[in-house]
Amino acid sequence: MATKLLLSFAICRLIVTVGLTVDPSELLRLGVDGQLSVDPFDIETASLDFGLISRSEPMAVLHPGSADDIARLVQAAYLSSQGFTVSARGHGHSINGQAQTNNGVVIEMSGGSRGSRLGLGNLAKQQVAVKEMHVDVWGGELWIDVLRRTLEHGLAPKSWTDYLYLSVGGTLSNGGISGQAFNHGPQISNVYELDVVTGKGELMTCSEEKNSKLFHAVLGGLGQFGIITRARIALEPAPQRVRWIRVLYSNFSTFTGDQEYLISMHGKPSTLKFDYVEGFVIVDEGLINNWRSSFFSPRNPVKISSVGANGGVLYCLEITKNYDESTGDTIDQEVEALMKNLNFIPSTVFTTDLPYTDFLDRVHRAELKLRAKGLWEVPHPWLNLFVPRSRIADLDRGVFKGILGNNKTSGPILIYPMNKNKWDQRSSVVTPDEDVFYLVALLRSALDNGEETQSLEYLTDQNGKILRFCDDAGIKVKQYLPHYTTREEWMDHFGDKWDRFYQRKMEFDPRRILATGQRIFNPSS
Ligand code: FAD
Repeated sequence: MATKLLLSFAICRLIVTVGLTVDPSELLRLGVDGQLSVDPFDIETASLDFGLISRSEPMAVLHPGSADDIARLVQAAYLSSQGFTVSARGHGHSINGQAQTNNGVVIEMSGGSRGSRLGLGNLAKQQVAVKEMHVDVWGGELWIDVLRRTLEHGLAPKSWTDYLYLSVGGTLSNGGISGQAFNHGPQISNVYELDVVTGKGELMTCSEEKNSKLFHAVLGGLGQFGIITRARIALEPAPQRVRWIRVLYSNFSTFTGDQEYLISMHGKPSTLKFDYVEGFVIVDEGLINNWRSSFFSPRNPVKISSVGANGGVLYCLEITKNYDESTGDTIDQEVEALMKNLNFIPSTVFTTDLPYTDFLDRVHRAELKLRAKGLWEVPHPWLNLFVPRSRIADLDRGVFKGILGNNKTSGPILIYPMNKNKWDQRSSVVTPDEDVFYLVALLRSALDNGEETQSLEYLTDQNGKILRFCDDAGIKVKQYLPHYTTREEWMDHFGDKWDRFYQRKMEFDPRRILATGQRIFNPSS
């Protein structure tokens, strides 16, 4: 009863503040299976994200009990005379408020931070089709739970993100990449079918064959065309163990040459390639054991100076080979044969061996350590760029050895190449116009410790400098997990894909009420 009163109050406020003419009782009458909430805790959670940089308060939060709840809510938003905005929120791991909405309704797809209390209930019933090698999952499911469930059948998804506490709908709205992408493509290339609630409130099933325009629009679509309520994800037999190797380079072109050689093996039999290829840049010695790389043994510290880093910068190649215990006796030879073709510094081979799930869940262990030190819930001015292969050396010169200078970089810098032919050009995501492009991810944490170079302002300003440097040097980078604030910047980002993106928006979300936190379109009244 108290909740209903609060909800009526919030909806009245909504009418006053944005001139919304929805009848308050209309939302209450939606008769959702889940829960519409104005609990201050829910509102606060939905107002924030991992970035801790922007904040927008919704008027209410929906904890859906079914896909129909979502369809009912979006339809009410679409049909109401003034309209109101609706944003799906996965696990809220965006950086710049992409899942937030001001004065509208946020749908907590993954249960929000009260997930453990409310749970996903019936929504989380995953259906594994063992023979067909796929799994049907709720759009708000976290990848860690998809892994746990599919492993019960000896299966696992093929393509991953480095961190598994992200939602299926959230990563599919962006791309979903990690070191497997060179081989399997991003996560959006490993989906067979989706259920989507469009901006008109219609619940539609789509795939390559059925409603294909919607299917391709939604993949990498930044939440603009619909809300993913179910995804059918491709599976493969799950490996049991992983041989995980890191080697260092002091020469950038030797490093990228090896990375590009490794990803060129994508079409070859599995014995001739690694299963995962990533890398990172080490610009300051403190970072050799950063949260993404607590790997080098403290008993065996690596000194940048001891390996002859060129300009104080080192490059770490990170590769893995999956295997099963039954074939464990040949893994050493296989890895040795593969590594013969690489040109790393011979004294810098670090190897570990662990269960497949421990490898996939590696970042979560780092998260727990950072949380314990109070270093997880801090602002994260991250910058993720896709860089064309032909210009990656310019980034090394201008950014790693230039703009970043000798300052502490405040977080790991990932760098790894991918093959463009593994990305479906019909999806909404944009990548550079070359066969091979790199992810360069500056995963920075801002600290309020009095050091200027660690502050949010300094790091944000540095991100701006990096983007301007690319612009001035004519390096045609594309932001991954993009963040822009003007229509012109978005049009520039999409380039010749803009017209298609715009037309798809007008078709599937004509009132522009979905995912307004991306700041691409303004809602129409
Ligand atoms: P949210 O941040 O909640 O939402 C992201 C966007 O998708 C919003 O616009 C939202 O409205 C929309 N959305 C959410 N759910 C749905 C849905 N069901 N249907 C339609 N739209 C929806 N990304 C990688 O590719 N690779 C990585 O290795 C990687 N590692 C990361 C590690 C950490 C620690 C963090 C914080 C992020 C990482 N990311 C990585 C980025 C991640 O993919 C994005 O944050 C992504 O948005 C997923 O987060 P989320 O599920 O919390 O989505």
